[in-house]
Amino acid sequence: MAVPKKRQSNSRSAKRRANHDRVEPANVAACPSCGEPRLAHRVCPSCGKYGGREIIAQAEAEA
Ligand SMILES: [Zn+2]
Repeated sequence: MAVPKKRQSNSRSAKRRANHDRVEPANVAACPSCGEPRLAHRVCPSCGKYGGREIIAQAEAEA
């Protein structure tokens, strides 16, 4: 069985992981019903709608 001769350096391990350890930017898109920025695949926090349906009932109707 092959055994590594030297311990791999922290730098070398970090370089290998560099791309998949990154933090991805949040996927923000405008809400199709109110136009406010909203996370993709999430209920809109400002109008409470998702997929054309109202999921969270709003306290008062907005213009
Ligand atoms: Zn909205």
